[in-house]
Amino acid sequence: MIIKRKPEDLANYLEDTSNIKGEASLLYLPKDKGEVSASIEQCCRKKIPFTVSSGRTGTTGGCVPGGGAIISLENLNKIIDIDKERQLIRLEAGITLEELNKEINKFNLALRASPTESLAFIGGAISTCASGVRGFGYGSIRRYIEELEVILTTGELITIRRGDIFSQSKGFDFEYKSRRFKFNIPSYQMPKVKSQAGYFIKPNMDLIDLFIGSEGTLGVITSCVLNLQKIPFRLFDGLLFFSNESDALIFVDKIKALQRERLLFAASLEFFDKNSLDMLRQQYSFVPNFEAAVYFEQEAEDQKSYNSLINKWQVLMEESGADIDKSIFADTSRQREIIFEFRHKLPQMINEFLRQNKQTKAATDISIPENNFSKMHAFYNECAQKAKIRYVNFGHIGESHLHFNFLPQNDSQAHRARGYIADFCKRAVALGGTVSAEHGIGKIKKPYLKIMYTESQIEQMAGVKKYFDPPCLLGLDNIFKKEILFNLG
Ligand SMILES: Cc1cc2nc3c(=O)[nH]c(=O)nc-3n(C[C@H](O)[C@H](O)[C@H](O)COP(=O)(O)OP(=O)(O)OC[C@H]3O[C@@H](n4cnc5c(N)ncnc54)[C@H](O)[C@@H]3O)c2cc1C
Repeated sequence: MIIKRKPEDLANYLEDTSNIKGEASLLYLPKDKGEVSASIEQCCRKKIPFTVSSGRTGTTGGCVPGGGAIISLENLNKIIDIDKERQLIRLEAGITLEELNKEINKFNLALRASPTESLAFIGGAISTCASGVRGFGYGSIRRYIEELEVILTTGELITIRRGDIFSQSKGFDFEYKSRRFKFNIPSYQMPKVKSQAGYFIKPNMDLIDLFIGSEGTLGVITSCVLNLQKIPFRLFDGLLFFSNESDALIFVDKIKALQRERLLFAASLEFFDKNSLDMLRQQYSFVPNFEAAVYFEQEAEDQKSYNSLINKWQVLMEESGADIDKSIFADTSRQREIIFEFRHKLPQMINEFLRQNKQTKAATDISIPENNFSKMHAFYNECAQKAKIRYVNFGHIGESHLHFNFLPQNDSQAHRARGYIADFCKRAVALGGTVSAEHGIGKIKKPYLKIMYTESQIEQMAGVKKYFDPPCLLGLDNIFKKEILFNLG
């Protein structure tokens, strides 16, 4: 197995897009699950803490090591089997979403949920339960995961199939390969919005759902089976520019209502505030000097529905108050690519801005029950006015989930920005929302998890982690402080 120790070989593995910096003295590059097992076994024998690293596109420092070793899964990059009839794929965890889609598109199949940045690995996307631009239509990656293969620090390799093992009243109690697994699950109730804050818990839950989104703390995912979708017959996108933000918000409400009544199937529904548009205009000259924009992507299953949907959206767009001349309607693949890239460019520009200003991420990942979204939105605007720090607010408005990003230019602004982010999280929880809808808690959002759950509920999470990782070596300081584990006794 390849093992590296030189600082220059490890340098690229010490950060993700949160911009926090880590440290490590050892890098394992296993080529298959046997070598993953061997690297875990070595770490456990020598009591070296270790962190799993995938695409390192995470925004919360989850893969950033706090000392010890890194196990990078980049060489576990094989597709094991594609069942075209049943639309299932079995693949290793180190494949990027880009490679995955390239391979399956050949068979007219796709992972339509398209969770997140295409350079993320499938194992990373599962571990953060990512959801992306198509969350409005497709939800998070959770829905599409049928099976996981996981290696624990006990040396056990477990295969978890959806539908096989469920919790009973207070926890799980099952036999697997002649070992009895019995442990309690935390007592909290998750908010009724998409949430990736701490372990996924619900009554009579499937074991696979505990591991999805567990942020590299319970075991190392080495392969998975995913459910795929047929590529729709035809797609079209719109990018609508509004001279008035409230018109954009009314338009969004209307689309959501139509989607609820199943009169539309928009895969994406995204929002950009004025500051986002100002930032994007530096790279895209077609962006007008307007107050807001809404992006949508619509799927059609045949020519008839395509024609009728085009007509429907044209009427909606004309009634919306958007500037029709400046707005963009894309129905060729090239035009659609440009708009999709445009959508994705903003988080990249934010990350670049933070790097240049030597700052770490100060952003929300808050999702709110729909009926309280306008209150949260008003609170964002109120605080932004007070803060007087550059910011952008954009994202998955279809799921009432915006990313408010401060763009601090010095440490003092960054410090104040973090105070406001905490205020946003408190207000979100008071309104029934979550402090993290898709990026996870990682290392940098632990203080916000405490706003959502009590100390004892966080200890219960740590108890689950300790059950699966008794030596407490894996993914330390993700989700909760490592000291909590050691104090559990
Ligand atoms: C431009 C940009 C846009 C983004 N947009 C979105 C978005 O729309 N939606 C969204 O959800 N996220 C988004 N993200 C965040 C990021 O892409 C996701 O969090 C992604 O799922 C991380 O995957 P990764 O492979 O990069 O994982 P990493 O960052 O390498 O790791 C993430 C966490 O998972 C753990 N982990 C990784 N692989 C495994 C494994 N095989 N077994 C066990 N644990 C593992 C790590 O230890 C770490 O805790 C965006 C990021 C960027 C840079």
